[in-house]
Amino acid sequence: MKYSYVRSLACPSCLQSLSKGVHKISCPQTHAKFQKKSGIWDFLSFRRASPSQIENESQHAKGPWGRISDGSYEILAAFARGNKTLDIACGEGWIEALAPETVGLDFSLSALKKAKKNGAKNLVWGNAEHLPFLDNTFDLTINSGSLENIENPKKAIMEMARVSKMQIMVVHREFNLPFFRSVRNLFSFILKIKHQPVEKPLLFRELTKMLVQANLKVVYKGHWTLPLNYGRAINFLPEFSKVNSCFFVITIRQ
Ligand SMILES: [Zn+2]
Repeated sequence: MKYSYVRSLACPSCLQSLSKGVHKISCPQTHAKFQKKSGIWDFLSFRRASPSQIENESQHAKGPWGRISDGSYEILAAFARGNKTLDIACGEGWIEALAPETVGLDFSLSALKKAKKNGAKNLVWGNAEHLPFLDNTFDLTINSGSLENIENPKKAIMEMARVSKMQIMVVHREFNLPFFRSVRNLFSFILKIKHQPVEKPLLFRELTKMLVQANLKVVYKGHWTLPLNYGRAINFLPEFSKVNSCFFVITIRQ
């Protein structure tokens, strides 16, 4: 589909439209400059990196995270194709490899460089809590497996609602058992598990509350069976493939 997302780029701080330029644009208010370098729009290097960003970057730089081959990417790419789609936390670009018009955003530059090699064309180095796009830029935003890794997931959901009519989210779920969260946190601490800098799986009621606050209507809710212990973060345990590890929701702005 031919459309230029570049015309919809906005200053992530004040959300004003940026003056047009092919490789360099600037905020009319603060005159902060944003540029495209090696095919990736940079909306992040002007800020000081947060500790979780530094940690995420170093994990991505270590090596490829690999591709889950359970059909997830094919399914999500099928939603993306033919729509103006933004893939938030696109990582190594597996949706974009199958749906190249999709705009991929991530806060790891190492991941974006890998995404480019994997065939992604439209890449933005940016923060999910401050999307550098004007309101209603996209038909659809996809956030697959990263809301639980964002420091402020409510802000990230509100941003998805701001820039798109429809949203698809795959969210790692917290198991609804007494003390489960404390036990898991203790377990992670003792075993020094560092799968992601922020790892806060959500209960469905927590997710629903944030969706309501963002004025989104849930039109579909179900489960998504990403393997639990994917990538064997706990290396002495296997991957558990038949666990309803994630929620899958499709929402639309009311
Ligand atoms: Zn600005």
